[in-house]
Amino acid sequence: MTLSLSLVQGAYIVAGLLFILALAGLSRHESARNGVRFGVVGMTVALVATVLAATAGVDAAPLGSGGPDRNGSGWLGLALIAAAMVIGAVIGLDRARKVEMTGMPELIAMLHSFVGLAAVLVGWNSSYEETPYPTIHDVEVMVGVFIGAVTFTGSIVAFLKLSARIRSAPLMLPGRNLINLGAIVAFFLLTIAYVALPADATFARASVLGVVTVVALALGWHLVASIGGGDMPVVVSMLNSYSGWAAAAAGFLLGNDLLIITGALVGSSGAYLSYIMCRAMNRSFISVIAGGFGVEGGTVATDVDYGEHREITAEAAAELLSNARSVVITPGYGMAVAQAQYPVAELTRTLRERGVDVRFGIHPVAGRLPGHMNVLLAEAKVPYDIVLEMDEVNDDLKGTDVVLVIGANDTVNPAAQDDPASPIAGMPVLRVWEAEHVIVFKRSMATGYAGVQNPLFFRENSQMLFGDAKDRVQDILRAL
Ligand code: NDP
Repeated sequence: MTLSLSLVQGAYIVAGLLFILALAGLSRHESARNGVRFGVVGMTVALVATVLAATAGVDAAPLGSGGPDRNGSGWLGLALIAAAMVIGAVIGLDRARKVEMTGMPELIAMLHSFVGLAAVLVGWNSSYEETPYPTIHDVEVMVGVFIGAVTFTGSIVAFLKLSARIRSAPLMLPGRNLINLGAIVAFFLLTIAYVALPADATFARASVLGVVTVVALALGWHLVASIGGGDMPVVVSMLNSYSGWAAAAAGFLLGNDLLIITGALVGSSGAYLSYIMCRAMNRSFISVIAGGFGVEGGTVATDVDYGEHREITAEAAAELLSNARSVVITPGYGMAVAQAQYPVAELTRTLRERGVDVRFGIHPVAGRLPGHMNVLLAEAKVPYDIVLEMDEVNDDLKGTDVVLVIGANDTVNPAAQDDPASPIAGMPVLRVWEAEHVIVFKRSMATGYAGVQNPLFFRENSQMLFGDAKDRVQDILRAL
C-alpha cells in the first residue's frame, strides 16, 4: 500500500491552517467554542495523515529536507501506534474526566513535561540515525535534547509547586545566575565537541550527549525552582512556550513539517502570552525566562502586627448590599475551590434586578490559569459586558459602595504596592481598599498562593465573612 507524499503534505497544510484558526478563535470568548472545534478537526486530520503515512510507506519529510528516510513499517507499525494511542487515550480521558478545574494548572504542567521527555527521546533515537547532512543533524539533536530536557524537569518542578507538593518560595542558591549561565556555556561547548566527533565514535558521542542531557535536566529544575510563587503564572506559560520549541525541534529531527509548524505556533504564542503576563505583573520578561535573573527573593515577614480584623455576618452583608448603588466583585482562586460561581451569578442577577450596578474586576493572574475566572463566570452565564479587566475597573473602585472579594488574596494585596520587600512587590493589584466597604470571603486568615499576609484584611473598611465562599454567598442570597 502506498500513499502519495503530496496527499500527506496537503493534509499537513490543512491541519496547520486549522491550528492557526483554532488559536485565533480561542483568543475571544465569543469564538472560543469554534476555536476548540477547529483544533479538534485539525488534530484529527494530522493524526490520520501521520498514521497512514507511517504505516503505508510514505516518508512525510519533504524530499531533500535531510529528514530521515523512513519506510512504511506496515501492519506491525500500525498495531504499535494503535496500542500506544489506545493506552494514551484511556489514561488521558480518565485524567481529564477526574481533574477538578482547580487542578488544571498542574495537569498542564505535567503534560508539558511529556512533550519535553518526548523531545529528549526523539533526539537520542535520532542521534543513531545516518543522515546526508551530519553537522546540521548533530546540532538539531543537541538543541532538541537540550530544550526537551529543560522543559521536562522545569515542568515537573512547576507541577510539584502548583500542586503544593513542594514549597512555592524561590530557591535562592548562591551564584544562581552564574549556575544558569554556566549551563548554557557548557551546552554550546559540548555542542561544538559533539559536531567535531567522527560519526563512528559512538561511545564518545553518546557520552557528550549524556552530559548535555544531565546539564539540561539540572538547568530546567534550577530555572523553575528559582522562581517565586507569585510568578508561577508566567512560568506556566513560559513552559508552554518551551514545550512548543521542544516539539518543533523534534519535528526537525523527524523531518515532520506539521510538528515544526505546530511546535512553532505553540512556542511563539506561549512566548507572547508570557510577555503579556510579565507586563501585567510588572515583571521583566528576560528576568523570568532566565529563572528570576536580577530579582532578589523578597522576604515573607510573618511577625508583622497588622492589628485586629473585623468580622461580618451574611445577614449584615446582605443589608449592606441592599443599600448599595454600586458593587464590584473581585473573584480569586477561592471562588474556583468553592465552585461559588453559580451562587455568585445568581447574586449578581438579584442585585441587578434591584437596580444595583454590579461589575466584576478580574486580575490577570487570579486563580491558577490565565483566564481562569473568566471561564468560571462564563460557565455560570454572567454577561461578558460586566466582566472587566483590572485596568478597566481599578480607577472606579474609589467611588464603589461595596467590593466583594470572593476567595481572592494575592491579587488584592496592598503590600504589592506598599512594601518593596514583599515577594509580590511591584505586581499591580486590584485596589479594592479604595471602596467604601470591602467584604472578604474566605475560610480563615491564611495567606494566599505567594505565602504573604494581606494587610487588606486589617483595614478599617474591611470585614471578613468567614466560611466556604459558596455557602456564604447562598446565605446572603437567602437573607436578601
Ligand atoms: P490566592 O491563591 O492568593 O488566594 C486564594 C484565597 O482563597 C486563599 O487565601 C484562601 O483562603 C481562599 N479560599 C480557598 N478556598 C476557599 C473556599 N472554599 N471558600 C472561600 N475562600 C477560599 O488567590 P488569587 O486568585 O488572589 O491569586 C492567585 C495567585 O495564584 C497569585 O499569587 C498568582 O500569581 C498565582 N498563580 C496564578 C496562576 C494563573 O495563571 N492565574 C498560575 C499559578 C499561580 P482560606 O484558605 O483562608 O480560605
